[in-house]
Amino acid sequence: MSSVTDMRDQHTLDHGHPWRLIITTGLWESALHGLISTPDAQAIGPLRWLNVSDARELLVEGLQVTTTTITGESRPTGSAWFVVATSDRIDPATLHHEIAARGLQPSQICVLLLIDRQSHRRWLGIVAHQHRIDPLTEIHIIGPRSVRIQTAAEMTAPPDPRWSRTVGALGERTWNLVNRATITMIGAGRMGTSLAWQFAALGIKRLRLFDPDHLAVENLDAMPGLSASDVGLPKVQALAKALLRFRPDLEIVVRPYPTADRDTRRLLRERCDLLVTAVDDDTPRYLAACIARECLFPHLDVASDIQRDASGQIHLTADARLLLPGAGCVQCVGGIHDLPAVLRQLSPPRGAMPDHAEQPWFEHRAGSLITLNQMISGAAVQSWLDLLSGDLTTSFWQRIAWNSGRGMESHSGPVGRGDLCPVCLRTHG
Ligand SMILES: [Zn+2]
Repeated sequence: MSSVTDMRDQHTLDHGHPWRLIITTGLWESALHGLISTPDAQAIGPLRWLNVSDARELLVEGLQVTTTTITGESRPTGSAWFVVATSDRIDPATLHHEIAARGLQPSQICVLLLIDRQSHRRWLGIVAHQHRIDPLTEIHIIGPRSVRIQTAAEMTAPPDPRWSRTVGALGERTWNLVNRATITMIGAGRMGTSLAWQFAALGIKRLRLFDPDHLAVENLDAMPGLSASDVGLPKVQALAKALLRFRPDLEIVVRPYPTADRDTRRLLRERCDLLVTAVDDDTPRYLAACIARECLFPHLDVASDIQRDASGQIHLTADARLLLPGAGCVQCVGGIHDLPAVLRQLSPPRGAMPDHAEQPWFEHRAGSLITLNQMISGAAVQSWLDLLSGDLTTSFWQRIAWNSGRGMESHSGPVGRGDLCPVCLRTHG
């Protein structure tokens, strides 16, 4: 079954919703190494709570391996924390006994996760809060070698010959991650279209598209699958229609409103496996970086630029930055051109007029080409696949330039967090 959904009515909080634990690969692996080398230890760290439409999410903010047991009495009222330990017995009775021994206050939340001491493969977790104990239903490990574990076995689609070439190239493990992936994309224009077709062709599960603009006739040259009859439709809707003709099973959610509006910002925080920006404007790019840091999403920013110099020579450059939360962002890797203006756009003083009207495209670039967009979007999506496979373990910047008559020049490499970057170092309490 396929559908295009408008996201306005989707958000309702249900206290019966599952508990989902979100942790970065770095924290998870260092805790596991600590627990393997010191079997009687436990890893403990603070949690932050985020409500999304389909779950109650708890995000792990840090983890330290210790042999000291933390009790409710030693923690502030209202605090939330995560404990992971290894055990020979992985059963509900052991978990209930362990949590009872910690003497929680009703206002506190504690997630206790036990991992099998021998194999490190089996696990069981509970969430204790307000005198209740609920099962921990999902763990998402975010970043390199991304993993999503659920207590209930996920329905897996029967093998479909349609995907045999992609599975052959990616390997089954990586393809399964792609096949279950939700991608949120800001920007459904020329670059966004190029990226969306690749994600759809790779077999992702769900695509959320955000763009307030309507399709104009001059966009059609770089938006395959769209036609003159789509002109005037919201770009997200026109693109969704074309993608659904190609992949009727793809779940697409569209939101044709500005990213700055409050509802949209909330919807952008819905759990995704990758947050993509394909925009000309630094405001949604910076907003995405802040949300990616807050919600622990990998962020992929893709942009191209075509300039004509004084001698009439044309210069084609394009960038793809794949940024892991807390380990580089669009502000410290590459930079935001006018941050004060971006901040004013995101939080305008009450009653203020918009900062400036949008400039016509020809005032800041010579044009746009599908060839350049396709080159960089292929490289960008491939870096995400490398992240899923675990071959890429850091944030990564790729820049390509096309030298007329001499072909492609490319520079790429790992990048990290800038010193004192306020976005990367932000803690959310
Ligand atoms: Zn940063």
